Amino acid sequence: MSLMTPEQRERYARHILLREVGGQGQQKLMDARVLVVGAGGLGSPILQYLAAAGVGMLGISDDDDVSLSNLQRQVMFQTDDVGRSKTDRAAAFIERLNPDVAVNTHPRVDEGNADETVSNYDLVVEGVDNFAARYVVNHACIARKIPLVSAAVGRFEGQLSTYKPFEQPGVLPCYRCLVPEEPPRDQQVNCAEEGVLGAVTGVLGTLAAMEVLKELLGVGESLAGRLLLYDGVGGTFRTIRLPADPACADCSKLSG
Ligand SMILES: [Zn+2]
Repeated sequence: MSLMTPEQRERYARHILLREVGGQGQQKLMDARVLVVGAGGLGSPILQYLAAAGVGMLGISDDDDVSLSNLQRQVMFQTDDVGRSKTDRAAAFIERLNPDVAVNTHPRVDEGNADETVSNYDLVVEGVDNFAARYVVNHACIARKIPLVSAAVGRFEGQLSTYKPFEQPGVLPCYRCLVPEEPPRDQQVNCAEEGVLGAVTGVLGTLAAMEVLKELLGVGESLAGRLLLYDGVGGTFRTIRLPADPACADCSKLSG
């Protein structure tokens, strides 16, 4: 634990004013290490708010370059970033926003590197666009007992939850309890094929950042065991209970 500098006290003054955060909570954020998987429409507000909040170390995992069609929703990137590496441009954005934050860039998480990548972090948050990556991250986080905040969007809708089945095995679910098998291609909502309103990624990404900060601070009610559903057309939120699946291939062994 280190004492905050006068500049840090000023930068984080509105956090420190909050009884639930204070200087101690701010120090927790500054000592925290969070991996953000996917530097896209969800990853943009996630990284922006976590960097602004002073999370001490941020990992960014992505392989893509910025494309023109990203800019409608990936608000961390500028037009002159097109063609350049997303992780590099995201790291540059964070450096300008908050030099207190240490940034690590990682390639796309896959089966071969997932365990090593997540093992350096206290918490993982993902906003990726494919089921394979979600399963890999889910599996690695369970094995390392690392909480996972997971957000997804499509068209005008989104969903969000926090997965930490190891805290209450058999009660709290993991991502695979929600989606046991990858749905057939024609039933998948994919923003490349079906579109997504840019602001929807902002809503869900910001809510994901909120859940990350709550987990790090130990404040409020976790979304673990609940799924938050956003319907942008109706302008409504719903929360449904999300139980553990006793037959889950990824987390049911935890209860044994
Ligand atoms: Zn499970």
